[in-house]
Amino acid sequence: YLMNIDIVSVFPEYFDVLRLSLLGKAQENGLVHVAAHNLRDWTHDVHHSVDDTPVGGGAGMVMKPEVWGECLDELLGLRGDAYDGDANPGEAAGTDPIGRHEPDSAGSVALTNGGSAPHPTDTVNDIGTSDRPVMPGEAATLDGAVISEDAIAPGNSADAHGTDAHGTVLIFPNPSAPLFTQRDATELSHADRLIFGCGRYEGYDARIPDHYRAQGVDVREYSIGDYVLNGGEVAVSVMLEAITRLLPGFMGNPESIVEESYTGGNALLEHRQYTKPAAWRSLEVPDVLLSGDHGKVDRFRRNEALQRTSEIRPDLIEALDCQQLDKFDRKT
Ligand code: SAM
Repeated sequence: YLMNIDIVSVFPEYFDVLRLSLLGKAQENGLVHVAAHNLRDWTHDVHHSVDDTPVGGGAGMVMKPEVWGECLDELLGLRGDAYDGDANPGEAAGTDPIGRHEPDSAGSVALTNGGSAPHPTDTVNDIGTSDRPVMPGEAATLDGAVISEDAIAPGNSADAHGTDAHGTVLIFPNPSAPLFTQRDATELSHADRLIFGCGRYEGYDARIPDHYRAQGVDVREYSIGDYVLNGGEVAVSVMLEAITRLLPGFMGNPESIVEESYTGGNALLEHRQYTKPAAWRSLEVPDVLLSGDHGKVDRFRRNEALQRTSEIRPDLIEALDCQQLDKFDRKT
């Protein structure tokens, strides 16, 4: 696969829709592999609880670091606290020979895709195909491919923003994080593996991303917009679609991602689009688009893009590199 994607959520079924459309096709074609995991598979208590009250008081619940820690250690192939100094993690209480916990109640089954064996690997909502058992030091559910600790981008944590992503990137959607943009999507489309952690409730314990950054993992937190959703699942779907459509071979026509809004050095909103017929309900396609003169068509579209961007997103106009503008642009 060009890209392996793991998603951790308390609602892994949410990602069944990723089987549809172009992303579904990309999985069938072996371009991307997506596995959705149930966070509760890494709990040990009867209630499979993943949250607790906020330290310092306040409303709501916060996602616990221990459960996320066990889950992410396994997916990243890292040895966490559970394995401290133990040469044979399989012997740790409650873990099976490859370091994963044994099921402790039937509850986890109901929360997964209906599988009968409540084991993390088995209960993965594996959107591709995966039955590869995974050893400590390797990453899970990669359909035969093994990702070792080496695959984790080293030393890439401090200023991860703006660097080209490679290796493994761990991503947490978070409304109080920097905005996810087309630039981030482009950067992340170069990664080999993405692991998304979906928050719920009031969010996740802040030490979770901090810990993995300190381990040298490339950790990103992104907001998809200035509003609050109930959970990270929709935000992950948004980011995933924006990233994967940039993978080579994903789109039928690769040209279609070259000239788009927010894309390229001087990113503008795209010009308006029309198709046939030339006249519809007394509304006509602009004449110039029917002229067959490509130079004129390009100029018309460029002017429209500049004009629309300055009206709708003046911040994008301010960010333009003036050196890159031609004299006609300047007039617009
Ligand atoms: N207490 C948080 C705040 O006020 O910033 C909101 C938590 S929200 C209800 C629960 C989870 O939904 C977050 O941890 C995050 O994963 C996800 N989420 C909500 N809105 C989001 C957004 N705009 N962008 C990315 N993720 C979002």
